[in-house]
Amino acid sequence: TNNEMGWNLHHSYTRLPDMFFERVDPTPVRAPEMVRFNEELARSLGLDDKKLQEEDGLDMLSGNKLPEGALPIAMAYAGHQFGGFTMLGDGRAVLLGEHRTSSEETLDIQLKGSGTTPYSRAGDGRATLGPMLREYIISEAMHGLGIPTNRSLSVVKTGESVRRERELPGAVLTRIAASHLRVGTFEYVSEWGSKEDLQTLADYAIDRHYPEVKEDENPYLSFYKKVIEQQASLIAKWQLVGFIHGVMNTDNMTISGETIDYGPCAFMDEYDPKTVFSSIDTQGRYAYQNQPAIGQWNLARFAEALLPLFHADQEEGVELAKEALANYEKIYYSHWLIGMRKKLGLLNEEKEDRELMDNLLDIMKKHQADFTNTFRALTLNELEEIPMHGTEEFTHWYEQWQERLARQEETPTSIYEVMKNANPAVIPRNHQVEKALQAAVNKDDYSVMERLMSVLSNPYAYSDEQEEYATWPDPSRGPYQTFCGT
Ligand code: AMP
Ligand code: MG
Ligand code: MG
Repeated sequence: TNNEMGWNLHHSYTRLPDMFFERVDPTPVRAPEMVRFNEELARSLGLDDKKLQEEDGLDMLSGNKLPEGALPIAMAYAGHQFGGFTMLGDGRAVLLGEHRTSSEETLDIQLKGSGTTPYSRAGDGRATLGPMLREYIISEAMHGLGIPTNRSLSVVKTGESVRRERELPGAVLTRIAASHLRVGTFEYVSEWGSKEDLQTLADYAIDRHYPEVKEDENPYLSFYKKVIEQQASLIAKWQLVGFIHGVMNTDNMTISGETIDYGPCAFMDEYDPKTVFSSIDTQGRYAYQNQPAIGQWNLARFAEALLPLFHADQEEGVELAKEALANYEKIYYSHWLIGMRKKLGLLNEEKEDRELMDNLLDIMKKHQADFTNTFRALTLNELEEIPMHGTEEFTHWYEQWQERLARQEETPTSIYEVMKNANPAVIPRNHQVEKALQAAVNKDDYSVMERLMSVLSNPYAYSDEQEEYATWPDPSRGPYQTFCGT
């Protein structure tokens, strides 16, 4: 460690060529106030959770003072946003450095909402309290669900207001990520850098995330395949809990395979594959059912960026990339199938399993059954909780499922355990997240958020306390909508 707070900051990224970043300090804020601090995460990083909540720590987590050893930068990247290519970069975030833990893990420490950077364009570089708390809740809930994600260390109110459609309280979020390398980082260098720059970035990413491919015959192709594998696995996990990312632009797809950018995301309530929450996604490009295919589309853009590294001959390179990407669907599907089998307590494989799954999903869709609660009710065998309970089609499906379960050797107890660990009892329900945010933002009351986060920290507990969080939203509220970039 290089200081008393426990920071052990390194700066491998700043050793990349100049084009990859701009040196920039966070802009100080008037009156920082800690509103949320993740003690458990701080401790797991080897940070001093007490000191970080005192004045010096608060100054660091608001951007008012740099931790010892920090060298803040904004990262350059580009990306395809809703299909169109554009230059982006950290417009309201700075990377303080890479923290190395005692177990040799290297993690980016980033402030979000910390002021303008050379990549801000017309933006003010700031973030508002509600969306930063929302990212905190949902990213930590994803972690609780066992889904790879960047994490949230703290939210600090800045004591300044930020101009949006109206004046809103400003905030700075500190996020922790395996790295902030994105498909868009590669698109950036592919568009504006040399082949050497591209190779430098690829070597960097391999060192950081996939060192095991270094000795492979074609390490860059192996690297590409690793990212395909990680993303296919990640997106399958999203599908299995009804998570809708909302803005799967290539700049929001990480090389590490972590979920990033919690702007307009939300969890699906009733099962409908067409579900979209984001107000700007008018075409439904990033609807629930499109997420796996969009993953593949993004990975094709990644291959285009990496192409010169695959083979000296471009056509050969294209063939190699195509072959690798052609496996995506199979990889995705196998992850989904493994997860879905667990959701239904199937511990071996039968050919008709897919049909059993599809039939259930069809019935759920027809009866607008809640995605999470249906699997929860099947786990608990509380069939009366399921809207289509008592219908002929569901009864028929249920019989087939029971017969299927009886054809395997496992006891009901072990089947129950498997289902329990695959079917969360609680998810961050939109109406509950909103309630927590309203209490926090409007009344400075963080107790609602506190309780919500406590039940979300172990969504597979099936504790009594979680019962009240498993309720349906009131349908009279109308469709839920999310917004990004606030
Ligand atoms: P996102 O939609 O969150 O992926 O962000 C797209 C781009 O807009 C990124 O380059 C962000 O850094 C930038 N951006 C978003 N909000 C702001 C803001 N308030 N000020 C400056 N840049 C921003
Ligand atoms: Mg983004
Ligand atoms: Mg965003």
